[in-house]
Amino acid sequence: MEKKEKKIVKASTNKKSNVDVGIDSHGKIVKIEHKGEPKERATSKRIIAVCLWLVGIFFEVVGILRLKNVIGWLPSLSDTTFLIICLILDGIAVIIGSQFWKKANHIDPASEKNALKFWVQNNLGVIISVIAFLPIIILVLTDKEMDKKNKTIVSVVGIIVLLIAGVSSYDFNPVSEEQLLRAEQEVLNVNPEGTVYWAPNSKKYHVKQDCPSFSRSETIIEGSVRDAFEAGLTDPCRRCIPELEEDHNHEEEAE
Ligand SMILES: [Zn+2]
Repeated sequence: MEKKEKKIVKASTNKKSNVDVGIDSHGKIVKIEHKGEPKERATSKRIIAVCLWLVGIFFEVVGILRLKNVIGWLPSLSDTTFLIICLILDGIAVIIGSQFWKKANHIDPASEKNALKFWVQNNLGVIISVIAFLPIIILVLTDKEMDKKNKTIVSVVGIIVLLIAGVSSYDFNPVSEEQLLRAEQEVLNVNPEGTVYWAPNSKKYHVKQDCPSFSRSETIIEGSVRDAFEAGLTDPCRRCIPELEEDHNHEEEAE
């Protein structure tokens, strides 16, 4: 198998990183070291998520105040246009915020032991989406001054943005603390350094840098199991961790 041309990039999500480029037998390696513990990185992502969610809810409130004629900002815009702009800005802020929230949950997951906390933490983006759109949609639908046509336009836009925000905020692959710790232990059993690898198009992480799955990959990313989880890869390649083959059906890595 040809490995010489492969580039290995160390995963990093921290802005305060050291970049150290070196060459080894496997080609060009870009080493980017993390600074900051996973919990700290998760906390900063959660703070950004909450701020963006608040920005989204701010636009909802501005829209409601305009609907109720409390504020007269941008009088040149019709109520309908103003409300649609508010809904779209609300949607953008909520969707981006939820992506930060989901990444934080993959770096620092909730424990399965507390089922309520686990559910709330993993579904908070969806809950926020409902809070950020449902009240304004209901107020538009029940408004007595707005004509039927404009009500329909604004409420349809609101429902569409709510659905897009809700679906993109939902974590289709929620991670628990126990799942992350089990995954880290499984990797440690094979590689005492706990390092895993994946290609930009990988669906799973690999413990072996020379896994046959990388035969067509030019760049390999190196990081911790948490980094792989953060990148959305929560399952190991079974060729790299053969012990798992006893418990699971063999699956080909999709590349
Ligand atoms: Zn593999």
